Amino acid sequence: MPWKTLDEMDLKGKRVLVRVDINVPVENGVVSDATRIDRIAPTVLDILAKGGKPVLVAHFGRPKGKVVLDMTLRVCLKPLERALGRSVVFVETLEAIEHPTDELNAADVILLENIRFHAGEEKNDPEFAARLAALGDIYCNDAFSAAHRAHASTEGIARLLPSCAGRLMEAELKALEAALGAPQRPVVAVVGGAKVSTKLELLGNLVEKVDHLIIGGGMANTFLAAKGINVGKSLCEHDMAPTAQDILAKAAKTGCAIHLPVDVVVASEFKAGAENKVVGAAECPEDMMILDAGPESIKTISQVFENAKTLIWNGPLGAFEIEPFDTATNAAAAAAARLSVAGKLISVAGGGDTVAALNKAGAAEAFTYVSTAGGAFLEWMEGKLLPGVAALDLAA
Ligand code: AMP
Repeated sequence: MPWKTLDEMDLKGKRVLVRVDINVPVENGVVSDATRIDRIAPTVLDILAKGGKPVLVAHFGRPKGKVVLDMTLRVCLKPLERALGRSVVFVETLEAIEHPTDELNAADVILLENIRFHAGEEKNDPEFAARLAALGDIYCNDAFSAAHRAHASTEGIARLLPSCAGRLMEAELKALEAALGAPQRPVVAVVGGAKVSTKLELLGNLVEKVDHLIIGGGMANTFLAAKGINVGKSLCEHDMAPTAQDILAKAAKTGCAIHLPVDVVVASEFKAGAENKVVGAAECPEDMMILDAGPESIKTISQVFENAKTLIWNGPLGAFEIEPFDTATNAAAAAAARLSVAGKLISVAGGGDTVAALNKAGAAEAFTYVSTAGGAFLEWMEGKLLPGVAALDLAA
């Protein structure tokens, strides 16, 4: 772990500005899933245990630099108090912390109103970052999922205060390092989902780093088509054929084995329970579409997993939202889960749809690490060092 963590910081009597991601779903004015709030509790409690006073800084929605009342973070106050088992003082303005009352000085934990109400936040305005930095003595970033954006509260401030990673950020960085930085080999990556065009950089980076690349989902159709195979009515980016060919050529050079489906499940329409059949990957009828990988492909995937030590996964292998086209995703997830529980595989997965797919498969719990970060996880898989991570102090 190259960056400082809470373990290396002297927090006694210090005000610690903690960037967290509590951008939770809200329905009818109530938080409907408090997972993100629950996950920051260890960091906040640790800071308190070390004698520090945490001030939580977070964004909520996209108010674009203006006060938008229904994007207030006040909605998170009660769930946060529940997660921490103590009271939290909600503060609407920076002035309130700049000129604290006795009550505020006595508060253990402060939650600051939506930082994106300030125009300087998303612009990473140096003056705004300096104003934020003046509110505390130490900066702790626990929001990996916001670290791909260079904003004042994720990047600018880290350059102005002694800084470190929070527990959640630390866990995320360690998991990603174990999967892509210095992994135990062989490493296998699963990349699925709809389109090649959204995951180009990711594929380009992975073929340089992993031993096996399993391509599934709609993007596999683009690769099949690039090999001259007719994919009928399947979702396919025909104009990406040269790009797919470049990726295959690069993989041949780097020695990365690419696994495309050898058989597929085809249907006439994109609909739950649609009539379907298994055909060879090169035999999709003209009037049908590929919606999942077939049983032989699942066997190959399981074998590759059996022989691997590390797995990194983004994107479903088929149209997992509709049955029975979730079969390959479920089967591969179950195989990875079994090997992970047996201690034979380090498995890291991330990205919005991937988390949903693994949850649906009942496999997420068994994975070594499941990242709920969307964009940040993908950028890390693309080989980018995220600005919010890069700005943290390095460990001695
Ligand atoms: P992504 O957001 O790129 O990970 O893509 C996830 C989406 O890809 C899901 O909504 C899946 O239903 C969709 N998908 C996966 N495989 C296929 C396929 N063969 N045909 C159409 N859509 C697919």
